[in-house]
Amino acid sequence: MDDLSRFCCLNDTCSDRGKRGHGNLTVPARYGPNKTRVLRCSTCKDRFSERKGTPLFDARLPADRVVAVLAHVAEGIGTRKTARLVGVHRSIRRGGRHAERLHDELVAFSPDDR
Ligand SMILES: [Zn+2]
Repeated sequence: MDDLSRFCCLNDTCSDRGKRGHGNLTVPARYGPNKTRVLRCSTCKDRFSERKGTPLFDARLPADRVVAVLAHVAEGIGTRKTARLVGVHRSIRRGGRHAERLHDELVAFSPDDR
């Protein structure tokens, strides 16, 4: 059984948007080499990647490598040096753009995690 308690529907028009552990999400499929879960909201019928809304979305890397990249960047290590140390290429800059978009989104909307 998948633990979906940390996830919530992100559809702007859904009445259950942002409700974590609400029981409205299921896993109808997985995709990619990392077996990323597709989540489906039973309220609005929307489907989305479990990575949507996270720095992992569209990174096309295993989660541990994305975390390694972000840890290096958070320590102030430059892009090229981080790429060499972690062994990745272009996805580093994407992570930075994602972080900026995510910040803007979270400032406007923060799901209830109580
Ligand atoms: Zn929904």
